Amino acid sequence: MKDYASYSYWLEHSGDDLTPRPPLDGSKTVDVAILGAGFTGLWTAYHLLQRDPSLNVAVLEAEIAGFGASGRNGGWCFAGFPLSPTELTERYGRDAARAISLAMYDAVDDVGAVCEREGIDAHYAKGGELEIARAEHELPIIEEMYEDFRSIGLEDHYEMYDAEQTVERLQVAGAVGSFWNREGAAVQPARLARGLARAVERHGGKIYEQTRVLDFTPGPPAPVFHTERGDVTAKVVVLAGEAYLAEQPKMRRRILPITSHIVLTEPLSEDVWSEIGWERREVVGGFGSEGAYLNHTADGRIAFGPYRSHYPFGSKITDAINLQEEIFAHGRKSALSWFPMLEGVEFTHSWGGVLGMPRDHMPTMAYNRPTGVAFAFGYTGDGVATTNLSGRTLTDLITETQSELTELPMTRHRPRRWEPEPLRWLGSQMVMWSRHRNERKAEATGKRPEGETLAERLWRS
Ligand SMILES: Cc1cc2nc3c(=O)[nH]c(=O)nc-3n(C[C@H](O)[C@H](O)[C@H](O)COP(=O)(O)OP(=O)(O)OC[C@H]3O[C@@H](n4cnc5c(N)ncnc54)[C@H](O)[C@@H]3O)c2cc1C
Repeated sequence: MKDYASYSYWLEHSGDDLTPRPPLDGSKTVDVAILGAGFTGLWTAYHLLQRDPSLNVAVLEAEIAGFGASGRNGGWCFAGFPLSPTELTERYGRDAARAISLAMYDAVDDVGAVCEREGIDAHYAKGGELEIARAEHELPIIEEMYEDFRSIGLEDHYEMYDAEQTVERLQVAGAVGSFWNREGAAVQPARLARGLARAVERHGGKIYEQTRVLDFTPGPPAPVFHTERGDVTAKVVVLAGEAYLAEQPKMRRRILPITSHIVLTEPLSEDVWSEIGWERREVVGGFGSEGAYLNHTADGRIAFGPYRSHYPFGSKITDAINLQEEIFAHGRKSALSWFPMLEGVEFTHSWGGVLGMPRDHMPTMAYNRPTGVAFAFGYTGDGVATTNLSGRTLTDLITETQSELTELPMTRHRPRRWEPEPLRWLGSQMVMWSRHRNERKAEATGKRPEGETLAERLWRS
């Protein structure tokens, strides 16, 4: 049996018993069967059962609920979407771009409301999201962020702060300005995933852990999940495995699994906290070679996730890819450059997980009625709130409830395939290398590089 608590600090402190639930005990027929008890699967199960408590919903989970990215992420439950409003406007028009942002604001709030209603103590704190520029050449990045939302008439949700206003909130070395998004909350993600799993069960859903789906057969007549422990036939099957869908024979090239990593400090003393400030527990991010996503945890630590990742050749997901010592060391060093007052503070935990990147950066939340197969995946590291939107959108699609959500472009999106290996690996290496080179160049010259590199253009094509 795996030591599930060792996969992240969040799982270790989830406040829940991580002993696996019993597996599937032979073939079954249900109304809705879901692959994966991460946020996508659990939000879908939860909202389906809210809509129709008589539904027979089964969640099939290879490990335990919250084992994947959902139990290991940075805890940014924020209205961030993999494509910017400008990119969405170019692809789908201004109204659709605006509708996605509004739906994301609702998602952040729905997470808080369900925690409240279901008594899930996920340390939800809606302090917003603060993106900090730590060099003059980073200011255009945050100005562009603000401009993006102004262009779709939603600037009221955002503010720009100068250096002084920024450090009033948070003492970060070298801060020259920041962008504040009020639609963001910090959460303890494993407490959210585990609490949500309990809520699904209270509302009549069944979660089978230690039950790996090996393949699926689409309908008609009825779609089927094939597992090591029997077949599950359903009216609807939902693929909610995000990065792990790359392991499904029929999905291999639809998603690219890449890692993300976090290092965590010990609880900081009151003296250190009074130097840093950060009283509202905003989730905080920054750019450049020391760029990262940060979370001020409810128990007084800093979780620091450096923007460095690893793509495993052949999309092969193993436990070993989570343990990138070089990235952890880079994270600890970068954290000190942000907060010199952390000198001497111990980093007690480090971990990683896999997130899923679609070829065109656009998430899919779709249901194919003739085959009975629904999908929601492709969040590219912005999945904590987006999965809630997936759950509510799939609920409307599956129950044939026409709504604003069923009109969103994600419901019509069909993910493109990634290139076969070794092109996939070579391409990902090139993009990562050229990004790092650009960051170093910008830091050396003090100028933001113009346009995209050749590698980035190829990747986008
Ligand atoms: C280190 C890290 C930091 C991140 N930080 C943030 C952040 O701060 N904010 C943000 O918005 N997003 C963040 N993300 C992304 C976010 O965590 C994910 O987008 C989100 O959790 C995806 O949820 P999911 O349920 O779709 O997938 P997962 O949580 O990965 O769940 C998939 C589940 O499917 C199960 N499974 C896999 N294969 C099978 C199978 N064959 N049969 C049955 N079950 C199977 C897995 O065990 C897993 O439990 C981060 C991701 C990582 C890795």
